[in-house]
Amino acid sequence: MRYLKKFLLIALAVLIAIQVPFIYRRYQLGKVAEKISASNASRIVRTDDKFDEYVGIIHAHTFLGGHSNAKFDELIKGANDAGVDFVMMTEHWSDDYDTSALTLNGKYGRTLFIGGNEIDTADGDRFLMIPGSAEAASLRKLSTDAVLAKLHAEHRLGLITYPERYKSWNASFDGIEVFSLHTSAKAINKFTGPFDILWSGRAYPQLTFAQYFRRPDANLAKFDEASQKRRLTLFTGTDAHSNIGFHLFGDDAGHKLLDIKLDPYAFSFSMARVHILLPKGTPLTRDSAVDAVKSGRFYIGIDAIGDTSGFRFSANESIYGDETPAANVQQLEVFVPVTSRVVLLMNGARVDERPATGEIAFATSGPGVYRVEVYRDDLGEPFSQMPWIMSNPIYLR
Ligand SMILES: [Zn+2]
Repeated sequence: MRYLKKFLLIALAVLIAIQVPFIYRRYQLGKVAEKISASNASRIVRTDDKFDEYVGIIHAHTFLGGHSNAKFDELIKGANDAGVDFVMMTEHWSDDYDTSALTLNGKYGRTLFIGGNEIDTADGDRFLMIPGSAEAASLRKLSTDAVLAKLHAEHRLGLITYPERYKSWNASFDGIEVFSLHTSAKAINKFTGPFDILWSGRAYPQLTFAQYFRRPDANLAKFDEASQKRRLTLFTGTDAHSNIGFHLFGDDAGHKLLDIKLDPYAFSFSMARVHILLPKGTPLTRDSAVDAVKSGRFYIGIDAIGDTSGFRFSANESIYGDETPAANVQQLEVFVPVTSRVVLLMNGARVDERPATGEIAFATSGPGVYRVEVYRDDLGEPFSQMPWIMSNPIYLR
């Protein structure tokens, strides 16, 4: 009996000792959260801009086409609560019905929904097709080249999802999902992750997950290589399913005790988003949003670690996504709403970097594909290692 008591006491002490780093991490996340809310409150807002900025999500699923049991009312509430202006839905195809037509299309509350599909090709490549089509299921019988030719003839986008598995790099795809929230969530350490969620998940849900984000080096390298051949867009995909979770006890009727959903829509739609620009006064519609994505007039904002709204990267009258003669451009201008470190890349190589608040300018060095990554050094590691902002390029020809 005495041995048992001793053993239990030691086990208890070990269990408590294991928790110490996670309790300390919760304290650290609290400090980061304070810095973020202070910087959000003191953001510089520019009013002389020629654009209206809209925040959106690309790549989201519901119960249609499987992999999720989330319903439309959850999706609408989540999108509205997260304050997103549009969601590009990418339902899996079905042989029996048109999932892109049956998913949400049109405006619900403040959010515009655009029905699209996630499709496969005979070459084993996977794309987000936006807008979607009744032919989504049959595209899997066509080659990647044939699928993309068809999509372009029909004015649809063909965006690479899961670039790590993609093969047809010479095909005429429109963009690359360089950062996937879903893929990042799956990379969370299976042993330490649950303790972080236990201690910090309720108080700081965004930061608890964002601390595992890392710069997507391999995908950005692929983008940098491909974008030197032609204009392309980089984007973040949410791949929201609202289906990652666990429960302790349950029965076959679906009654669950301690049922915790780790990725409700309001949460995943607040983490990593695309910020598109439309000329001032242009209404946000399915066509204007698709055009902005096609032309790369947007940037990726990891809004989980601070509101990125208002970021600009421009050259004279040109903005990210645009192509302009190099001879006309002496400098590239960047505007950041809070103090951060701005890194300029040319053809994928870092050519300059500077701490900045508000507006700064970089000298150009001739024709090339220029893009910007912005880092929040003030938040410390690991947050300072993940780009807070990734812009689409300006192409100087
Ligand atoms: Zn998906």
